Amino acid sequence: MAPNEFSIIERYFTRPATPHDPQLRLGIGDDAALLQVPEGMELAVATDTLVEGVHFPQHTRPDDIGHKALAVNLSDMAAMGAEPRWATLALTLPTADESWLTAFSAGFFALAEEYRVQLIGGDTTHGPLTVTVQILGLVPAGTALRRSGAHAGDLIYVTGTLGDAGLALRLLQQQAALSDSHAAHVLLRLSRPQPRLTEGMALRGVASAAIDISDGLGADLGHILEASGTGARINLATLPLSAAVTDYMDKNGDWELPLCAGDDYELCFTVPAQKRAALLDALEAFPAGCTNIGIIEAAPGLRCIAPGGAAITLRSAGYQHFSAHA
Ligand code: ADP
Ligand code: MG
Repeated sequence: MAPNEFSIIERYFTRPATPHDPQLRLGIGDDAALLQVPEGMELAVATDTLVEGVHFPQHTRPDDIGHKALAVNLSDMAAMGAEPRWATLALTLPTADESWLTAFSAGFFALAEEYRVQLIGGDTTHGPLTVTVQILGLVPAGTALRRSGAHAGDLIYVTGTLGDAGLALRLLQQQAALSDSHAAHVLLRLSRPQPRLTEGMALRGVASAAIDISDGLGADLGHILEASGTGARINLATLPLSAAVTDYMDKNGDWELPLCAGDDYELCFTVPAQKRAALLDALEAFPAGCTNIGIIEAAPGLRCIAPGGAAITLRSAGYQHFSAHA
């Protein structure tokens, strides 16, 4: 017999509470969870929804969906410099498929346990497959990384590499040929994004602004520029690219992939020049590395300098279209 709503919650989403979590006063099982925010800390709250057919293709592996639903929320905590602590999960399911639920919850909890995030509540409903996670984290008061703090002269950095997840999407859509090892790398980047949490926390007091790259570098850096009232110049030759993306660009050559493709969940952040030494100290905490790709300027707009020296301007309307001029 298919499990009902309450046995789904009990079987798949109730885990023993982490010992030594004095801030969690009440978890799953009542009408609301109760949390105590410690003195001197701020509560950081974010939510992100994944809809089947929109955010992931039909027949995506359920363990990948569980991982990604939490990962994209953890990425928002990373971009704020916050430490994630608790999550809620609103799950809308077309059927109560037990093997699907087993794999989904395994993907979700493997990542939750890695970062010691506890599931403290949620909602379970019947309908088209939709997964909403709300994440709650703590950050010392006044230290959260915002989009609005960049100033002219600040250096712009990104973690990891850009365009991998976008390349994976193109592969899935076009069934384009790519060597097996390249395909495996980019498909993993799309299905299993790694939130840059140690990086985000290490950037407190160092970065002047930060954002996570979910919609593409151009769009997301654009949000920093808009919120900060500045512009920027980036040097395309310095963009960090994986071997797979480099190979693809050598053959297909436009800059749209690393500039406009989303889903990489790397961080883009700005650092005042005088904090560069502090950044080098913080670098130890950066397993994915980080790369200086440009500089914040006073004049509005994003100026991308191609390797030959020509400027490529991303038009502000959605940052999706290109207009090239020398
Ligand atoms: P209510 O009817 O009061 O909204 P529910 O019956 O929906 O309560 O949920 C019962 C308890 O189970 C609540 O504590 C709720 O937070 C939790 N819960 C429901 N669905 C989930 C889920 N998918 N994951 C984790 N907790 C859940
Ligand atoms: Mg409910």
